[in-house]
Amino acid sequence: MTRIHNFSAGPSTLPVEVLEETREELVDYRGAGMSLVEMSHRGPHYDAVHSEALALACEVFEVPEDFAPLALQGGATLQFSMLAANLLAAGGVGAYAITGTWARKAVEDAARHGEVMTVWDGSSDQYRRAPRTDELAVEPGTRYLHICTNETIEGVRYTQWPDVGVPLVGDVSSEFMSRPVPWELFDLVYGGVQKNLAAPGMALVFVRRAALEGLEPAVGSYLRYDVHLAANSLHNTPPVFSVWVLGKVLRWMRDRGGLAAMESAAAERAGLLYGAIDGSDGWYRCPVEPSSRSLTNVVFRLPTPELEDRFVAEAERAGLSGLKGHRSVGGCRASLYNAMPLDGVEALVGFMEAFREANG
Ligand code: PMP
Repeated sequence: MTRIHNFSAGPSTLPVEVLEETREELVDYRGAGMSLVEMSHRGPHYDAVHSEALALACEVFEVPEDFAPLALQGGATLQFSMLAANLLAAGGVGAYAITGTWARKAVEDAARHGEVMTVWDGSSDQYRRAPRTDELAVEPGTRYLHICTNETIEGVRYTQWPDVGVPLVGDVSSEFMSRPVPWELFDLVYGGVQKNLAAPGMALVFVRRAALEGLEPAVGSYLRYDVHLAANSLHNTPPVFSVWVLGKVLRWMRDRGGLAAMESAAAERAGLLYGAIDGSDGWYRCPVEPSSRSLTNVVFRLPTPELEDRFVAEAERAGLSGLKGHRSVGGCRASLYNAMPLDGVEALVGFMEAFREANG
């Protein structure tokens, strides 16, 4: 079997051990004579998988007791609407800091469900950094401040958590469980699982239970957090395959030292790659200010768009896949999620040096 190095922004690399174990169990789940994805989601086999995955999510992500985990379909995108429909159900204003494409999409959808306000917008500066707390003009009494903690397309992350006196709501999709979250600042943390955590097909949401009290969102049952909370994320048929793989990835993470180990591995991978970029005498360039650089989505430019195209194509042939930047911004991007081994980054850095030598 040949596995390439997959630098795609998501879905992306999963631990090979998890894929192999899933393959082993796929056709006949633990002697049941059928697959887990063929059986009732209300039976004992799935029940055990579901409970273990949600419990592990809280354990690995170090989630405090006053938060509840929810496994929901619709990806992170549905959460843009859902969080506003729920958290603004009793009125109030949702504040948004626009650090890139995903924060912008979040406010656009939220505006259909409640009153929103943009308190910071980095677009005039081509989204090169995250704001400091003192730049965020959030009025007291604002229901929440929504942040995208790591912008997947622009490669910008918050290295300092905003502390603005109102609860934070965070989209952590592209750095899910790659670093700890200061839970005391948050009412809700969410993300799609298809980058760092599982096979595509769902979002994981962690919501402060008290934040849902007394709300009567005027939306259908699937869109209400309280409905999913009361049903332990079994209100309807859950995304069984995704939850199944999630449990396996979380066990893999826990066995490797959990969140602290994921965080230091992320820093090591990113340090190696930024080192290569910064050490190239400006041949490779990262447009993001050093204080806001993402550890999981490293964006970089080459001297010309033609060289970038050639770089991506030659890298692909060398077994380094998914290095093209998002079509909206161009350039190159290497996504380095939890399951990316260090030798993948070493191979990329070696390729970058050889490519520069041949074309510089
Ligand atoms: N937020 C961020 C930061 C993302 O990177 C993405 C997907 N790339 C999304 C939201 C949307 O996720 P989904 O496809 O799960 O709806």
